Amino acid sequence: MRPVRSSSLSTCVLFLLALALTAGTAAASGSARLPREVLPTFERIKLNLDARKKSYAGTVHIDLSVKSAVDSFQFHSEGITLRGVTLRNGKAPVPSTHTQAGPTVVTVRTRAPLRPGAYSLDLEFTNDFGTRAQGLYRLETGGESYCFTQFEADDARKAFPCWDEPSFKIPYQLTLVVPRTHRTIGNTPVARIIPGKTVKTVVFQKTKPLPSYLLAIATGPLELVPITGMSVPGNVVTVKGASKLAVTAAKMVPPRLAALERYFGSRYPYEKLDVLAVPEFWPGAMENAGAVTFRDEVLLVDPRTVSVGQLATLSVYMSHEFAHQWFGDLVTMEWWDDLWLNEAFAEWMGDKISDQVAPEYKMGLKDLRETQSAMGTDSRLSARAIRRPVSALDNLLQAADDLAYKKGQAVLGMFEEWLGPETFRAGVLAYLKEHAWGNSVGSDLWEALSKASGKDASAAMSTFLDQGGVPLVEASVLADGRVKLIQRRFLGYGVQAPTEQLWRIPVMLKYSDGTGVRTQSVLLTEREMTVTLEGGKAPQWLNPNGDAAGYYRWSVPPEILHKLADGEGQYLSPVERVEFLGNAAALLDAGLIHGDEFMRLSAKFADDKDPEVTSALMDDVGLIRRAFVTRQLEDPYAVYVRRTLGPALARIGMTRRPGEEDGVSLTRAGLLLTLGDEGKEAAVVSFADSLAKQHIAAPGSVDPTLIGAALSLSALHGDEALFADYKKRFETAEIPAERARYLSALGFFRDPKVAQEAIRYSLEGPLRPQEIFTIPASLGAAVEYEDVPYKWMSENFGTIASKVPPMFLVFMPNFARGCSIERLEGAKAFFADPAHSVPGSELEMAKVADQVRDCAGLRQREGAVVASYLTQLVGSR
Ligand SMILES: [Zn+2]
Repeated sequence: MRPVRSSSLSTCVLFLLALALTAGTAAASGSARLPREVLPTFERIKLNLDARKKSYAGTVHIDLSVKSAVDSFQFHSEGITLRGVTLRNGKAPVPSTHTQAGPTVVTVRTRAPLRPGAYSLDLEFTNDFGTRAQGLYRLETGGESYCFTQFEADDARKAFPCWDEPSFKIPYQLTLVVPRTHRTIGNTPVARIIPGKTVKTVVFQKTKPLPSYLLAIATGPLELVPITGMSVPGNVVTVKGASKLAVTAAKMVPPRLAALERYFGSRYPYEKLDVLAVPEFWPGAMENAGAVTFRDEVLLVDPRTVSVGQLATLSVYMSHEFAHQWFGDLVTMEWWDDLWLNEAFAEWMGDKISDQVAPEYKMGLKDLRETQSAMGTDSRLSARAIRRPVSALDNLLQAADDLAYKKGQAVLGMFEEWLGPETFRAGVLAYLKEHAWGNSVGSDLWEALSKASGKDASAAMSTFLDQGGVPLVEASVLADGRVKLIQRRFLGYGVQAPTEQLWRIPVMLKYSDGTGVRTQSVLLTEREMTVTLEGGKAPQWLNPNGDAAGYYRWSVPPEILHKLADGEGQYLSPVERVEFLGNAAALLDAGLIHGDEFMRLSAKFADDKDPEVTSALMDDVGLIRRAFVTRQLEDPYAVYVRRTLGPALARIGMTRRPGEEDGVSLTRAGLLLTLGDEGKEAAVVSFADSLAKQHIAAPGSVDPTLIGAALSLSALHGDEALFADYKKRFETAEIPAERARYLSALGFFRDPKVAQEAIRYSLEGPLRPQEIFTIPASLGAAVEYEDVPYKWMSENFGTIASKVPPMFLVFMPNFARGCSIERLEGAKAFFADPAHSVPGSELEMAKVADQVRDCAGLRQREGAVVASYLTQLVGSR
């Protein structure tokens, strides 16, 4: 699954919430894992689906293998009304009774113990469709009704009875009875259609062995656009009227699939590959075998108005989900404790493939910026190991946090660099070959990597996976020219590590000894190590994270730090400059450099020619804004923003130039938004106003990459009439990406009366379930409205709870993120109330508390220094 990442909005809550809310849809209720004496070997599912109705009926037939003599067994069924349960041994019925043993589990009992052997179970049932984009759900759009599914992690049990755990990997055969005019999609091609008077029966081919969470269904007046040039057939699938927006996606699928087939050295494992655009959907995308679902705003592209950002996102999402077809689908984790590996691998592989097929989007550099954010989470004591036991009773959503995706990806990348890409690949291929069509655990991969490389990869990886935290590598040059390396846990200022931790860190030293730039790889296994550099001379400069591939923070003596920043173009590559800026922000957080020094260091990158470095610089500027800027400091901060980011915009200009790199266009959109909003640059705002007007008057006439920023900036000073206009355009937009742009812009109106109306609209307007958080989060990015998101959530908790899947409530404490201890205390009391807390919310509260205390501490410690730096800028030229 791919969580949604917000590219145009940098608000903390939105990012975290989107990430959290879209990471899965698990239920904490239920029992422990199912017993394994009675195993399913095959399941036939027949559903009578009319999306216009509230409920549906169905039957399942499950072949069972009884392994030992037991007089009871269990399967999953949640909220489903069972009408008939028949157990058979061959053709002979076996007398049995059944009871709903818990919210998600049914127990079947027999009078006498079952003898081991083959049995079958037939179930008849009725059920209501889901309505919150979870399980098997229905939705209406354009006057038509549709069914879609989203089962990960454990919501297949809400659609039909099944053994709903990833280790029960069996073939399924699906039959759907649907209205005659409807089309249907499943995981496999259609075997035959039996026409009827008002309905038709669609029989799908039997699937390869699959876990239940990867099954998918879509029905309705769907439209299909064939994808050509793949090793298997496939279509882009849309709702009625949207297939005209499917052409770009159809072209983007084949090269990405082919690149993965080359990497894995094997053909795509399933019979067909459809990609579906779903209007109501929580994740960014989901890797159902052969039927990959996407949010419609991600997959559907209007060539006239598509931004570079949307194309880059689509490229990455596709690559991520297609990588899962091998890693996750063909080889599936035994249990959810390895969900992190499933996601980390798809993230790593997907970005690698996207970079290979479409290098212009430079996803590797974007990843590095996201890794900086994950390291921020990991540098707090509340950070847990990404590999840890997960119980069926846990909220599985919490297993798929930003660390699972981004730390996991960064650690895989670090070890790929250490072992060498070809050796790493050989290990991955051996692992896939050995476990194809079955299940595996994380250690199976490490063992394959150790075997392929002859190095003890397992022991080193374990230090990053089985303990929380990110290491700090302190490097200094001794008088004799040798380099001393010391490791310890990297933590915020004044925070003591409860225990001493040790990592086995592949450190890449990059330096110059005067004759040229050299690199030297060191495995730092002890607390302290002294390294003799190759060449034997004292280095002139030293970068302790060469190629920026290491998952660690680093520090060097001030003179080396400044030398690296001064000589940026000469000493540091673009990827190292991006990492330098992220590391500098972390040093500030840990109290290893002061606020003014941090601002001076980052200002040295104001003239950097590389657009991704400019984006990283915007991240640093954003840190200053979040940690220090109060209403009194807004104007001096605006001067700082203009000083720091103005040169980059002046260099690239406000409009796209012929032949310009895509990375430049992407950065321009971010620069305009930051300079117009936070920098209060009048020229940018009026440019944005004219661009927005031009786009509305003649869609397709302006640079599409700037439309989102232009609409948002034009809303800053917008009145009620403009709000009403944008609202109407949001509600009637035919292009999903355009709808998303207007929704985002609705959160940028700053007039108090209009802002009030916007916040009301977020719950009362005709928004889809996944859209309700956008406006409050956008509004909260403004200094004067920073209390709004938390206030909105706490005052409307009941309404929000009625709109989102129940287990998403665990993430509501994240609304208290920021710098306010007062808000934090309020949130603690709010979530201590049993009416607002759900299992697991105390873990979220602990993370939020760490973040807020960190931010408040930084403000208190460096606030005066930063304020005086900012106010001095106002007077100086
Ligand atoms: Zn995924």
